[in-house]
Amino acid sequence: MGKVLVVGAGGVSSVAVHKMAMNPEIFSEIHLASRTKSKCDDIAAEVKKRTGVEVQTYALDAMDVGATVALINTTEAELVVNLALPYQDLKLMDACLEAGVNYLDTANYEPEDEAKFEYHWQWAYQDRFKEKGLTAILGSGFDPGVTSVFATWIMKHKLDSIRQIDVLDCNGGDNGMPFATNFNPEINIREVTAPARHWENGDWVETPAMSHKVAFDFPGVGEKNMYLMYHEELESLKTHFPEVERARFWMTFGDAYINHVTVLQNIGMTSIEPVVHDGKEIIPLQFLKTVLPDPGELGAKTKGKTCIGDVVTGAKDGEEKTFYIYNICDHEECYAEVGSQAVAYTTGVPAMIGAAMVLKGNWTEPGVWNMEQLDPDAFMEMLNTQGLPWQVEELDAPVSF
Ligand code: NDP
Repeated sequence: MGKVLVVGAGGVSSVAVHKMAMNPEIFSEIHLASRTKSKCDDIAAEVKKRTGVEVQTYALDAMDVGATVALINTTEAELVVNLALPYQDLKLMDACLEAGVNYLDTANYEPEDEAKFEYHWQWAYQDRFKEKGLTAILGSGFDPGVTSVFATWIMKHKLDSIRQIDVLDCNGGDNGMPFATNFNPEINIREVTAPARHWENGDWVETPAMSHKVAFDFPGVGEKNMYLMYHEELESLKTHFPEVERARFWMTFGDAYINHVTVLQNIGMTSIEPVVHDGKEIIPLQFLKTVLPDPGELGAKTKGKTCIGDVVTGAKDGEEKTFYIYNICDHEECYAEVGSQAVAYTTGVPAMIGAAMVLKGNWTEPGVWNMEQLDPDAFMEMLNTQGLPWQVEELDAPVSF
């Protein structure tokens, strides 16, 4: 049905490309480009082995807009799926505008020298995408992504308005390593060391990073400590559900993880300020990434489940109701299916489904859209058939934490 160009060849890309290959009636040709071509070749070889589908591979520096435009033209791709890093978002959006193709990513743009997590840079492209009749989908991972679509589905089918929303992200998996991040360490550590922020009564409330801890009993996983954090979808959710009184994001971390991050932060290893080492300028966090385990290598070692979802409270026919909507995903099942652990799987599958929505014509409105702005139904159906089935249950009362 459509030709796609995937940029980036990390853990998330590997899952997305596998799942695209498993849906050949939607993805008629898959092109995969990244800075290091050998990583694309490795993914292509795995995909060929598992599915028999050929993936074309290329070396590309996505910061070079001219080179990306040339590759889009050569491949005749209709959609660029950006699974590189958040730093590449704007350059890839520029390339899509110039080449006249649609765009999709899983994480909002960040300048490399500031951990900002704000959408305004990408929202500023709205008019340009509209004028060209092109669609840009922002944040088609799990969170942001599925959790945003969950909120819209609840709004469409269960509530008349949303009063409060808590996104709960639990990784109950264990990889046996003393310390490893389960996606790109640089991006992960930038997120967890940033101050926590949530939306309440029309304003942002800021608290120190990792200072607010709550135990929660996650379906399929059990009780885990989760921490209040800032996460980019809070900005888009409070914008697109303007009636929301409170929006918060929580993520689980084990004590060992918190201890390691605290020590690394105390000694300056998580800093993104350049320092001179042996006469050469280095960024401590980037050096740390080099010495930490590669999340892509953790798949075979990780056991346990993830449980990610939303608790949403709002009014229905004048009565207050609360729903918990979530997916449970098993690390070992993901590894058996596509050779990756569940964190990459829960991001790569929604990236594939978002891409399918564009290619199949479900999401074609020109402009720049966050996931909660789009009709949720076809996406929710594909979650059920593509490996991320979801459940919704009504709770007796709103969350008490
Ligand atoms: P990885 O670090 O594993 O992979 C990133 C890939 O991008 C690498 O192949 C890297 O190449 C490539 N890349 C980096 N810079 C460039 C460039 N200038 N040009 C071309 N390719 C480049 O990351 P993940 O797979 O873990 O994550 C991918 C994306 O998914 C990230 O943006 C992350 O923030 C997002 N994410 C979103 C989640 C969600 O739920 N919404 C959850 C988890 C991740 P090289 O190997 O050569 O460096």
